[in-house]
Order: sequence, then C-alpha cells, then structure tokens
Amino acid sequence: MQEEDDESSLFEPRIVHIEPGLEFVTRYEVLEELGKGRFGVVHKVIEKRSGQKFAAKFVRCRTAKDRDKLIFQVQDEIDIMNMLRHQKLLQLAAAFENPREMVMVMEYISGGELFERVVADDFTLTEKDCILFMRQICEGVAYMHRQQVVHLDLKPENIMCHTRMSHEIKIIDFGLSQKIDPNKPIRVLFGTPEFIPPEIISYEPIGVQSDMWSIGVICYVLLSGLSPFMGDNDSETFANITRAYYDFEDEAFNTVSQDARDFISALLVKRKEERLSAEQCLKHVWLDPENHHQTVVLSTDKLKKFIIRRKWQANHQVRQVA
Ligand code: ATP
Ligand code: MG
Repeated sequence: MQEEDDESSLFEPRIVHIEPGLEFVTRYEVLEELGKGRFGVVHKVIEKRSGQKFAAKFVRCRTAKDRDKLIFQVQDEIDIMNMLRHQKLLQLAAAFENPREMVMVMEYISGGELFERVVADDFTLTEKDCILFMRQICEGVAYMHRQQVVHLDLKPENIMCHTRMSHEIKIIDFGLSQKIDPNKPIRVLFGTPEFIPPEIISYEPIGVQSDMWSIGVICYVLLSGLSPFMGDNDSETFANITRAYYDFEDEAFNTVSQDARDFISALLVKRKEERLSAEQCLKHVWLDPENHHQTVVLSTDKLKKFIIRRKWQANHQVRQVA
C-alpha cells in the first residue's frame, strides 16, 4: 500500500495559462477513467517526461456557440484555481484547448471520494474521524473565504482523500466557484438540491456564508448517513431547506455527541449572517483536537445507502440544477 501513497502528484505551484491542445498529446499519456461529473470526465494521465501521475478533466463542447461559453467557463475555473494555494485545495498543473474540448491537468488524488473511503470494510468510522475530516474541510474553506472565493458546490463527491492510508482530505471541483465583491451582490441559480442554502432557493444574494450551510449538511450526513432536508422530490427538499426544517430525532444520532449537534445547528441557520464562519468553526469546541476523547464507532449502514442513492441519481441525470 505504501506504493499507492507515493502516487499522488507533487509539483511546484504555478500560474496556469491555456496552451494549444497538441501540446497535451505530446506531453501526456491518457490512462483509465477516475470519475465523471456534470461537466466532464476525469482520467488518470502520466506526464511522459517525469513519469508523474496527474488527473486530467476533459470538458467537451458540441457547437461553436458552446465553445465560446465553455472557454469562458473553464477560464473562470482556471483563474480561481490560480488564486488558491493551499494543501487542502486541489492544485492545477496545466490547461489545454482543442477545437471541441478543454483539458485541465490537475494534481492526482489516489484516495478516492471521502464518503466511499469511510464506508469501506477496512475503515472504522468514529466521531473522532469525523472531527478530523470536518476540521480540514473548514481549514481549506477558511483559506478560500480569506481570498473572498466562495466554492458553491461543497458536497460529498467533491471531498476526496489524499491517499487510501492517510486521513488527509482535499477539496476539489471549483467549477461553480466565484470571487465575491462585498459591494456587488451576486445571485445564482445552481447547485445540488440537497446541499444548497435557503438564499439560493429564494434567489437572494449569496456570500461566503453560503458554503457554511453546505458544510453543515455534509457534517450531518457524515455522522448519521441521513440527508437532513431530503424530501420525496426536489420541491419538497427545497421547502424543507427554505424553512431550515430538520431535526436530530433519528436513532442514528443516539451515539452522536451534543457538541457535534451544536456544531451542525450553528451552521444550518436560515439567515446566512448568523451562521458560524469557517474561522469560527475552527475555534468551536467540537473541532478542538484536545477534545478527541470519544471513540464510539458509528454505524455506516445508512451512509452506504446514501452513497448508492447519490450514484443512482448521478447516472440517471436527475441531479439537475436548482
Ligand atoms: P460536478 O458534477 O461535481 O460538477 P465535474 O464535472 O465538475 O463534476 P469533478 O467534480 O471535478 O467534475 O470530477 C468528477 C469526479 O472525478 C470526482 O467526483 C472524482 O471522483 C474524480 N476526480 C476529480 N478530480 C480528481 C483528481 N484530481 N484525482 C482523482 N480523481 C478525481
Ligand atoms: Mg464534482
């Protein structure tokens, strides 16, 4: 397994500019698929010169009109990633442009998605593990928010494990991220239904606090396997979110500490101004590394079902935008 640990790419941080697609073909060899998203497909690639592994995200366009839109979109993602230099945030190595496709070459992450890892047979999930993971998510997000960047798509699929063996995580996918200007209100109409905050549903101005809501949802799911606002359909889910209507009644919470519930309750707050900031989260008693005494093992049965449902939804394209 040690071998696998060495697989993740290590490279000097760099400012990436888009290069001609032919360059990509000469410099990299494309290997197996690593994952798929709404926008692109991600493959493992090898840089021929160094033998190093990277992950390349291929985003295709169909028409010439699409192409202009796509270039702007990918350029935005590159600009954001160029701003973000942090160990908990996925780093970009290069980008290429073909007539019908854009390629983003990123640091390769070998540990898979966080939720997949914690439900694996060789992993025993305790509240202490959840604290370690949530702390790192808050560290990465606190850094982003200091640069006035809001992620806007924080969800389990976008939190990965650095390697199979370590507890280190990385936040990926800056495709919806935006730089916020405090003097210019931004409204958006996208996101993943279960994780979006009330202000997006009501089309009110978003802020860095919008990410904090999603962190609350991720934490709730990680500890219980349950999705706090999930209804029978999207409009029911949206109604639950708008009312900030959730509880800790399920038996899954019997073994979860009061501090953990307080942490979640301080994030799932309808008014975004009243949510804990990422910096405040890092000071919350639940995330304090000194308080890691609890080692109660959490059942991951519900979390397994959660993952299966999310995969099914992804494959059936019902993961539409809000
Ligand atoms: P989304 O639908 O979430 O917006 P997307 O099209 O923007 O997706 P990503 O989320 O960037 O694409 O990547 C899709 C999937 O590919 C991820 O969920 C993950 O499983 C895998 N993946 C992405 N980046 C990497 C990486 N650097 N190393 C390894 N696997 C990766
Ligand atoms: Mg994604």
